[in-house]
Amino acid sequence: MINKLIAQTLPYFPKKFVWIFSKKYIAGETIEEAILASKQLNDKNITVTIDLLGEFIKNIDEARENKNDYLKIIEHFEKNNIKGNYSLKPTSFGLLIDKDICFKYILEIVAKAAEHNNFVRVDMEDSSCVDLEIELYRKLKAEYPKNVGLVVQAYLKRTPSDLEKLMDLHSDEFPLNYRLCKGIYVEPKEIAFKDPAKVNEMYLKNLEYLLTNKVFVGIATHDKKLIEGAYEIINKHNIPKEQFEFQMLYGVTPDLRKSIIDKAYSMRVYVPYGKEWFGYSTRRLKENPKMASHIIKSLFVRG
Ligand SMILES: Cc1cc2nc3c(=O)[nH]c(=O)nc-3n(C[C@H](O)[C@H](O)[C@H](O)COP(=O)(O)OP(=O)(O)OC[C@H]3O[C@@H](n4cnc5c(N)ncnc54)[C@H](O)[C@@H]3O)c2cc1C
Repeated sequence: MINKLIAQTLPYFPKKFVWIFSKKYIAGETIEEAILASKQLNDKNITVTIDLLGEFIKNIDEARENKNDYLKIIEHFEKNNIKGNYSLKPTSFGLLIDKDICFKYILEIVAKAAEHNNFVRVDMEDSSCVDLEIELYRKLKAEYPKNVGLVVQAYLKRTPSDLEKLMDLHSDEFPLNYRLCKGIYVEPKEIAFKDPAKVNEMYLKNLEYLLTNKVFVGIATHDKKLIEGAYEIINKHNIPKEQFEFQMLYGVTPDLRKSIIDKAYSMRVYVPYGKEWFGYSTRRLKENPKMASHIIKSLFVRG
């Protein structure tokens, strides 16, 4: 009840107050704050992936602005020698408005990252975007085979088949590079597993398939059971450390994160920042007062 009341009234509170709830999960509003947060993580032997928070875009001009923002981010982060790469959501670049322009803009971003021998991760959005994002990834990988990766979601029933089909892009020279996550959107039961145990089973099944096929995997989860399952798969198949990394969201389960680093495994943290944090946080809190998890959800759900 109290959570619900807070969530409903929070949008009317001063921004500074809402920030108290959000700041644990968001690196700040400005590039400088994101750079500082990234440096602090780098100092703990953690690499980062930077995400600029964005609102649902209404026209292609906004997509161009987002593209220009990302080009600036890359310049700043490279100049500051941040150990990290870049994550983006294709809908912020017009995927659902004009997929060709979206491709052109993201290609520019990947080209910029490639100039610095760096890498761009295409986040996976809701199920209406999956075909488009796979197509986009295929086209980007054809142009920049080393510098782009995709996210795959274990809760989608189609994922094992997508992974098999995408193996045609894989080679020893240019291995596929995925982030494997559970998936955060609310999807119908016809297309997504709803039972948490089934999602976990599929997560580990997909992980074993990818690792034994020499695909690079960002193992993105805060679920202890999945992390233990990942250790088992890694040990069972003697998977080399260069073929995977663990990934977590900024501010979530720092103790578990440390326990993984202590085992000398690579860790990357997803660092979201930007002026749009307020709209995101308050809208999600209003929808569902499960505070923290919904601020986190808001990092991935557009509009
Ligand atoms: C690096 C990264 C990138 C991601 N990219 C995408 C993407 O592109 N597309 C997409 O659909 N989804 C993405 N996700 C979200 C993902 O799909 C899951 O929804 C999210 O990670 C929660 O699942 P989980 O595996 O952590 O397990 P959960 O079962 O949700 O959480 C496991 C445990 O972690 C702890 N925990 C989780 N959240 C919190 C919290 N807020 N505060 C404190 N403890 C917490 C709790 O102890 C919980 O029991 C990403 C996640 C990560 C880590």
